Amino acid sequence: MLIMLKLDAPREHIEKVKTKIISFGCTPHEIPGSLKLAIGVTGASSSLQIDDFISMDSVDDVVRVTKPYKLVSREMKSEDTIIKIGNQEIGGSNLTIIAGPCSVESRNQIFDIAGELKEMGIVFLRAGAFKPRSSPYAFQGLKEEGLEYLAEVKDKLGMKIVTEVKDTQTLPLILKTADILQIGARNMQNFSLLEEVGKINKPILLKRGLAATIEDLLMSAEYILSKGNYNVILCERGIRTFETHTRNTLDLNSVPVIKKHSHLPIFVDPSHGIGIWDKVQPMALAGVACGADGLIIEVHNHPESALSDGFQSLTPKNFKSLVEKIKQLAPIVDKKLDL
Ligand code: PEP
Ligand code: MN
Repeated sequence: MLIMLKLDAPREHIEKVKTKIISFGCTPHEIPGSLKLAIGVTGASSSLQIDDFISMDSVDDVVRVTKPYKLVSREMKSEDTIIKIGNQEIGGSNLTIIAGPCSVESRNQIFDIAGELKEMGIVFLRAGAFKPRSSPYAFQGLKEEGLEYLAEVKDKLGMKIVTEVKDTQTLPLILKTADILQIGARNMQNFSLLEEVGKINKPILLKRGLAATIEDLLMSAEYILSKGNYNVILCERGIRTFETHTRNTLDLNSVPVIKKHSHLPIFVDPSHGIGIWDKVQPMALAGVACGADGLIIEVHNHPESALSDGFQSLTPKNFKSLVEKIKQLAPIVDKKLDL
């Protein structure tokens, strides 16, 4: 249920509505927005009646939300969510590029790549320190040491760090360095992790699971919002299909569909989506063309010797030529690329 109040509703009217919601055993969520003042209701709201609220002071309208996901839905909030990180904005008319290696491999490696990306104007550096790998024998990341190098890059180069949080145990550690916490495809339905990151106040990049429907992805995002963290970025990174020529099938259908049903920003990861470096450029452009709010792209100085995902990584030179094309494409789809 969604309760709409007049924009100039005094605080005491807002609080009365919230108290009433709580008295029914439900949870009120003030939905930030510039066009209207809305309070979303989650919990067992089916027992609530429209008449319980419609005649309260400052209440304009009360509507039922028909979708199973509530707080992430456009029904709850029609305006695009814009996430602010320092002087950066994600979502709305902004197009954001996150780039960097799959994993932090050494101090030199991360500084070399970060330096080149920074020169191109990239602000958001991706790199995993704790890596969830399909094989227990594969490189698992530099862990704490990797985070230390990322903290140093952040400090010395002023870049913003996007890194994966693999479990609840390492969350406090990741929080110290990350500006955006990535939840990987394999953890999309790790509900205890989703609930924990719902309690923090940093943005979450939530990647679509390998076999997750769009509704599954939105329900996972709902877990995070329902705990109070509204700063969620969704990410299409490809799903498993019967196709074997590519690593995954990048489901770009999800971008316009998610835009219709949710106010949250949606990014595309063409690197994991197709898994083949020389096919990353066309799929990245396709992602922008279909309305993505951003891209996350793997870039490595020496892809042939990368410890993870080298085959899908672009060299800085190839990445640069992609960025030049994105600059031309962005205005066609009414997006601003601030590089
Ligand atoms: C990654 O970004 O390197 C990664 C592991 O991605 P995903 O969770 O989408 O497989
Ligand atoms: Mn990777």
